[in-house]
Amino acid sequence: MNLRVPGIRGMHLSDHDLRQLDEAALANLTPEQARALLSKAIEDLKRARERLAQNPTNSSRPPSTRAPWEQSEAQEPEAPVVSTQSAEEKPGAESESESESEQKEPQKSPKGKATEKPAGRAGRRKGAPGHSRTQQLPIDAEQPHAPQCCAICGEPLDASHQSRAHNAHYVLDLVPSAAGGSGLVVRQTKHIYFETLCPCGHWSRALPGRCDEDASWSVQLSECHLAGATLVAFICALTQRMRLSRAKVREFLSDWLGLSVSTALINQCVHEAARAVEPVVEQEILTTVRNVELAYADETSWKEHGKLLWLWVFTCATATLFIVGRRTREMVQQVLGEGFGGWLMSDGYWAYRELDQRLRCLPHIIRKARALEEGFDAEGRVLGRHVLDVIATLMQAVYEARGAPPQGGGLRKRHAPMLDALLEHCLRLADGRHDKSRALARELLNDWDTFWVVLDHPDLPLSNNEAERALRHWVIARRIGMGTRTEQGTRAFALLASVIETCRKRNVSPWPYLAKVIGQRRKGLPAPPLPAPAT
Ligand SMILES: [Zn+2]
Repeated sequence: MNLRVPGIRGMHLSDHDLRQLDEAALANLTPEQARALLSKAIEDLKRARERLAQNPTNSSRPPSTRAPWEQSEAQEPEAPVVSTQSAEEKPGAESESESESEQKEPQKSPKGKATEKPAGRAGRRKGAPGHSRTQQLPIDAEQPHAPQCCAICGEPLDASHQSRAHNAHYVLDLVPSAAGGSGLVVRQTKHIYFETLCPCGHWSRALPGRCDEDASWSVQLSECHLAGATLVAFICALTQRMRLSRAKVREFLSDWLGLSVSTALINQCVHEAARAVEPVVEQEILTTVRNVELAYADETSWKEHGKLLWLWVFTCATATLFIVGRRTREMVQQVLGEGFGGWLMSDGYWAYRELDQRLRCLPHIIRKARALEEGFDAEGRVLGRHVLDVIATLMQAVYEARGAPPQGGGLRKRHAPMLDALLEHCLRLADGRHDKSRALARELLNDWDTFWVVLDHPDLPLSNNEAERALRHWVIARRIGMGTRTEQGTRAFALLASVIETCRKRNVSPWPYLAKVIGQRRKGLPAPPLPAPAT
């Protein structure tokens, strides 16, 4: 089965339409129909001209762009991705460490459409897993697709017009079991595309939906795909949430659903899903995080093909954004934007320091102070005890103030002598001989006011648990999978993690939403908005 979609995507007229267009065809049209056709042709022509003029300096999304809000980051030359052997080719080599390993982007989609070939990537090697399906499953249903109106004259078309099938493809998907039970069953649907003859003499074709090309993704977003939207979401649940390697997902699908698919197809599904949710993350989630009154941030190291990067998380009550990039101040600025007006809870990393309204995590300092107090250095034990006492008093005061009528600046004033004494203590040890005491004293001094902001605003949080909790699952994924292999794999990971965590924050299952986004985007339609928080 080799379904080639004629024409350039996004155009009104396909190659198939143009081949039929000649003087004779035009002579059949009324002046109104001809005018309508001309305006379609002009739109197509403008679009084609723009694409002709497109080059890396003026196209909006060069392949190595991570996210539009990262524009000020210097572009690093992309190292050519030399594909390592896939798990299929390494008997006995399948280990947890390959879990998140990114397969080389396939050069062919399941139906043999040529995909854009990124520079520096070798073609598919002999013996590499292909997409072709060897398995023969029964066809459970047939779904016809017929054109609704003529591509040339716009005349509505229906069953009364002469019609014939011009192509078909098969889709495997998971659907609710017929009895209305809770389970899912595998179903294979044969999608048949018809062409219909219009009275004007033109054969118009129904075609599978697809999203326009995007130079920053090597993966297609198209209805002409073996895996249906729910199966793609199911595969994402196995890889992203259950943290299974591509090889284990393949094993699982084979053992439990009788589906025989390649690891390359599984990888393609994950990347396609990520591409589908990209606008949701870049618009909806990013906007939410930028406009909150209180956000939490944290970062942890990330490895991409031997390159050290950072996985950042920015989270708030209703959304969580993950992004992988360098550990720079620009990353914070680009995520939060120029005018972030909320409070940000973070660690002491200097990149956050330019923000006006910052909070520091007190349990973080408590852990360090406790270690000092339990240590053997006399100076350290005294400082540790002192810090613990101050924080305990402060936290008690904050708890009491919550829910009580506001006291204005009273809390801060009342505890000023206590804080002054600690400040003096820290200043004394800031150049002291004991390194751990010195480090804690300096950490407090560097962010002095930030630690005590909660005295002025007792309703603000005392810890950064929200961000740490959001990172935890993905830190385990990193440990199992040893990071990602390609820039696209890294981007896919962060995009899917953002949508999955945001849905979980809202107490909504991410998977039906993910399937819906994939279904809509495959039709070339905008992604549906994120589900509202469940109450
Ligand atoms: Zn017509």
